[in-house]
Amino acid sequence: MAHLLMIEDHPHNLELMTYLLRAAGHEVTAAVTAELGLKAARECRPDLIVLDIQLPDATGFEVLDLLRLDPELHDVRVVAVTANAMVGDRDHALSAGFDGYLAKPIEPATFTRAIDSFLPSELRGHEPTPSWAGD
Ligand code: MN
Repeated sequence: MAHLLMIEDHPHNLELMTYLLRAAGHEVTAAVTAELGLKAARECRPDLIVLDIQLPDATGFEVLDLLRLDPELHDVRVVAVTANAMVGDRDHALSAGFDGYLAKPIEPATFTRAIDSFLPSELRGHEPTPSWAGD
C-alpha cells in the first residue's frame, strides 16, 4: 500500500478517487488547492501525487514545476488528471515531466489499477475484485 496525495478541487471527483483508493488499502491525503497541496506534499511525503491540471490557484504544470524544484520532493511520482481531455494532452503532460496521465471522468472499475500501474509492485493496493470490474 502507498501513501497517495490527491490535489483536486472538484469535490465529487476527489470523493470518488479517495473512496476507491482507500478501498484498495491506500492511505490518502487530499488537498483542494495548489497551495494546500504543496503544503501537504512537504508534510506527508507521499509515494505518489495525483494532480489535477486545473486548480483554482495554479495549473498542474506550475505545481509540477514547484515540486521538481524542491530538493525533498523533486523525484516524487506525479500523475496528471485532466478534464475535457483533448488529443495531445497526454503527450503534453508526459513531456512536461509527469510520470503518468489519466483523463477524467474517472472510471471507477479501472482507476485503482491505473494508479497502481504507476507504483512499484510493493506499494500497490489489493484488488477489490468486484465482479463488474472486468479485465
Ligand atoms: Mn479542477
